Amino acid sequence: MSVEIIVDKEKCTGCEKCYYACPKGPRIWKKDKDGKFYAFDISDCHNCKICVGKCPVNAITINMKKDD
Ligand code: SF4
Ligand code: SF4
Repeated sequence: MSVEIIVDKEKCTGCEKCYYACPKGPRIWKKDKDGKFYAFDISDCHNCKICVGKCPVNAITINMKKDD
């Protein structure tokens, strides 16, 4: 199983709370050219879901994906 993090770009305000709340923030989260955040590398994510709880607009969804 692996983790998949989806950010709803329509909802994301770029508040940076996911980046700062995540124990691995700089290794996982990045701002895109539109000022929205996305998980660019999830290899260090341990599915704690802190980012989900901190996002004020419920933009983050974490799914467990079955590996092929
Ligand atoms: S689930 Fe935890 S480790 Fe993974 S991105 Fe969110 S806060 Fe970071
Ligand atoms: S916490 Fe939510 S609204 Fe704020 S930057 Fe992260 S995904 Fe976007």
